[in-house]
Amino acid sequence: MLYRKMGKTGEEVSLLGFGAMRLPTAEDGSIDQELSVAMIRKAIDSGVNYIDTAFTYPKSEKIIGEALKDGYRDKVFIADKIPPWLIRSEEDKESLFNKSFERLGVDVIDFFLVHNLNAPIWRKTQKTDLISFLDQKKKEGKIKYLGFSFHDNLDLFKEIVDAYDWDFCQIQFNFVDKDFQAGEEGLKYAADKGMGVVVMEPLKGGRLTQTVPPSIQEIWDEDESDTTPVQWAFKWVASHPEVSVILSGMSSMEQLDDNLWNFSDPMIEEISGTGRNLLDAVTKEYKSLIRFDCTGCNYCMPCPQKIEIPRVIGYYNDWRAFGEASNIMFEYSTWLGRHASDCVECRACEEKCPQHLPIAEAMKEAAEVMGL
Ligand code: SF4
Ligand code: SF4
Repeated sequence: MLYRKMGKTGEEVSLLGFGAMRLPTAEDGSIDQELSVAMIRKAIDSGVNYIDTAFTYPKSEKIIGEALKDGYRDKVFIADKIPPWLIRSEEDKESLFNKSFERLGVDVIDFFLVHNLNAPIWRKTQKTDLISFLDQKKKEGKIKYLGFSFHDNLDLFKEIVDAYDWDFCQIQFNFVDKDFQAGEEGLKYAADKGMGVVVMEPLKGGRLTQTVPPSIQEIWDEDESDTTPVQWAFKWVASHPEVSVILSGMSSMEQLDDNLWNFSDPMIEEISGTGRNLLDAVTKEYKSLIRFDCTGCNYCMPCPQKIEIPRVIGYYNDWRAFGEASNIMFEYSTWLGRHASDCVECRACEEKCPQHLPIAEAMKEAAEVMGL
C-alpha cells in the first residue's frame, strides 16, 4: 500500500481510501453486512487506513462500527460527515453529532467533515454557526481534524477555504473534471494552505469505466499498453502530489482486490506523456458528447422553483454522455430534492447565464428523457 501525508496534520494516510457509501447489497437490495464487514477488514489488513463514511450513507456508520470491533479501530482513521441541511435547531447539531459516535461506537472521530458544501448549504452552515460548534468539539478532543466536502464552483471553494483554518477538504476530481468545481486550481489552492486533500469520484462515480460509449471505447482500444482505463484514471489523480487520499466507493470484493493491487504498485503515481495524450483524447470525446455546455458557475441561481440548475444539467449531460448508466439515474432521482420536471419555464435563469444556455429548454428535454 502507498501512503502520503495528510497536509499539515502530518498524519500518514493510505493513498487508497475505503469509500463506504456504496456498500455491497444482497439479492433483496439490502446492504450485505457480513460481506461489508469482511471487505472493510480485508482492506485494513492490506494496509488501507482511511475509511470514509457519512451520517446520511445508508447503514454505513453502523456497519463500519461492526467492522472496527476486535481491535480494528486502532488501525484506522475514521472520516465522517455531518449534514448541515438536516440542522433545524441548536439541539439538532448536538444530536446529529452524537448519533454518528453512537452508530460508530467510538469516542473520537479522526477526520470530521461538513458534508456536501454548495452555495445554499454553505449559507445554512454559516447561519447555524456550525463551524464554531465543530471547532469547540475539536478543542474538546471529540474530533481530531476538521474539513469539508465540496460540490460547487471554484470561487465558492476558495471562499470556504479562506473562511476557517481547515485541516483538510474533500473534492471531486478526475481527468474529465479537471476544470470542474474546485478542479486542479482548487486542489493546488487548498494544498498551498497546507490542507490535506481527499479526492472523491476518481472514476466519476464509475461513469468513466462502467458503460463506455462506442466512440470512447475506440480511443481506449488504440492504447497499446496493458494499462486499463481504471488504472489510467487512478494514475492521473495519483500523479498530483497535492492529493493525500483517493477514495474508491467499494461495492464488491473483486473491486476491493483490484484496488488493492493498483494501489500497491508505485507506478500508479506516474503517468507518461502518452498516457496524458490518451486521457486528453478521451476527455475531448466525452466533452463532444455533452448536450448543454454548463460550466457550473451558478450565476443562474437561485431558481424560484428551487431547482439546482447546474446539477440537473450535469446529470442530464452525464446521462447522455455516459451511456444512460443506472447509477446516474439513481443519483439524479434520490440526491436532488427538485428535478427538471419542476421547471415552470419562467426563464428567470436564462438572462443570468453567461453561456447563454437555453435552460428552460434543457429542463424540458431532461424531464422528457429522464422521466422527472
Ligand atoms: S426557467 Fe425553470 S429552471 Fe429557470 S428559473 Fe424558471 S423554473 Fe427555474
Ligand atoms: S446554466 Fe449557465 S449560469 Fe447556470 S451554472 Fe450553467 S453555465 Fe452557469
